[in-house]
Amino acid sequence: MFEVFENKTIKEILNKYLDIWSIGYASGLLGWDSETYMPKESIKERSIVFGRLAVLRQKMMLSSEFKDLVKKGEKEQNLNDYEAGVIRVLKREIERFEKLPPEFIEEMERVTSKARVVWREAKAKSDYNMFKPYLGKIFELSRKAAEYLGYEEHPYDALLDLYEEGLKTREVDSMFKELGPQLRDFLKKIIESQNYSATHPLEETQYDIEKMKALNTEILKLFKFPFERGRIDVSAHPFTSGFGVYDVRITTRYEGKDFRRSLLAVIHEFGHALYELQIDEKLMATPIAGGVSLGVHESQSRFWENMIGRSKAFTETNFELFKKYLDFLKDYTPDDVYRYFNIVKPDFIRVEADEVTYNQHILIRFEIEKGVMEEKINVDELPQIWNSLMEKYLGITPPNDALGVLQDIHWSMGSTGYFPTYSIGTILATQIAVKLEKELGNLSELITEKKYDEIKSWLKEKFHRWGSTYPPKELIKRALGEEMNPKYFIEHLKRKYSEIYSL
Ligand code: MG
Repeated sequence: MFEVFENKTIKEILNKYLDIWSIGYASGLLGWDSETYMPKESIKERSIVFGRLAVLRQKMMLSSEFKDLVKKGEKEQNLNDYEAGVIRVLKREIERFEKLPPEFIEEMERVTSKARVVWREAKAKSDYNMFKPYLGKIFELSRKAAEYLGYEEHPYDALLDLYEEGLKTREVDSMFKELGPQLRDFLKKIIESQNYSATHPLEETQYDIEKMKALNTEILKLFKFPFERGRIDVSAHPFTSGFGVYDVRITTRYEGKDFRRSLLAVIHEFGHALYELQIDEKLMATPIAGGVSLGVHESQSRFWENMIGRSKAFTETNFELFKKYLDFLKDYTPDDVYRYFNIVKPDFIRVEADEVTYNQHILIRFEIEKGVMEEKINVDELPQIWNSLMEKYLGITPPNDALGVLQDIHWSMGSTGYFPTYSIGTILATQIAVKLEKELGNLSELITEKKYDEIKSWLKEKFHRWGSTYPPKELIKRALGEEMNPKYFIEHLKRKYSEIYSL
């Protein structure tokens, strides 16, 4: 173990870290279990275990023995990239724990664990007033967190950095300034185009769940998902859990109709899983053996979902396979399925949004979160603000708060600052495709020829193998030769949808 690490102090740190890592591994597995197979009432004990393990982990990170070791490691000269990565990642985590007082962490934990339950009920009843006091408290705590964590330019920077190391509010601002208006104009063009249709009969077509499961497994086999190192299960909201590089699990959902939801979720989660699975095994059980940031992680899932799963080459090449499990497709052509996978439609729910409208949903949340952090937005007026932003950016007004301000779980969990990473991932995915085509050739041809091994090796070399060795911005620069740039995303959309809608 630890063979890429040569420095004696770093080796000492890694040995010590194994205890901390093991706690993370165990809580990860318990977390996966609570979303998949755990009997409902077990949560009463399970939540105690989660709390205690988190505290235990924090205590070990902050023990003077461990902290002193990391400090010693920091002073070491000539660290290699992996070793420097270990120090960077641990320093970040220790600093975060040190800056947030235990009373604050406990209060946040207490408020959010209750808020999640209340949010679920409030959403089911579409009753914003029920959730409002909790949201008010959570936003107040988020502002407090920013003060504790510290920032140079904008309080929101402190929260963004938790999810995307080094990301600044002004960068998100300029990203949306470039994207927002162009995409809104383009959306208008699509909706006003002659053969535009907001619906497709396949959205209502029922499928056999067992057959759909078999099809999803076939797709994973096509991508050579290593079943000896992972599995696929069912959950209400699809997710990926990677405990280590040898155990990465994904889930999908089966609603019985609208089969693209189940299939594209599998492809999306496969992208997340592949990242974790292709991290260099030599980094196993170290602080850098995980994806580097949420934005980079989402770029991998979006690459597989949008650039592969929603491509014309993919539906064309796999149409016979789809038909084998979904007999109703005998009445359709590959082109019908391609269009069904890519319907553009301004709608209320973010997670169901298409490529063209998706980022407007994030923009709305970003403007609100920024306003909250600047103390310009008060929770009393939030539903009205939400609805007017929906009207402004997507031209529709939610009929109720369940389809509006109450739809996402994130705020109830205290995850203010998380949303922009979804846009970063979506943009990066298109930029990755451009770079990949430059180096490997046409992506459609690779898909048609089922050369997934080539795509996977390329992604491994550029992104995956490094884990968290480099900070996200540096990894992107190394992999793509430039910073994130929204122009690639706009070009991709214009090319693809101008063809679909004959614009
Ligand atoms: Mg994702």
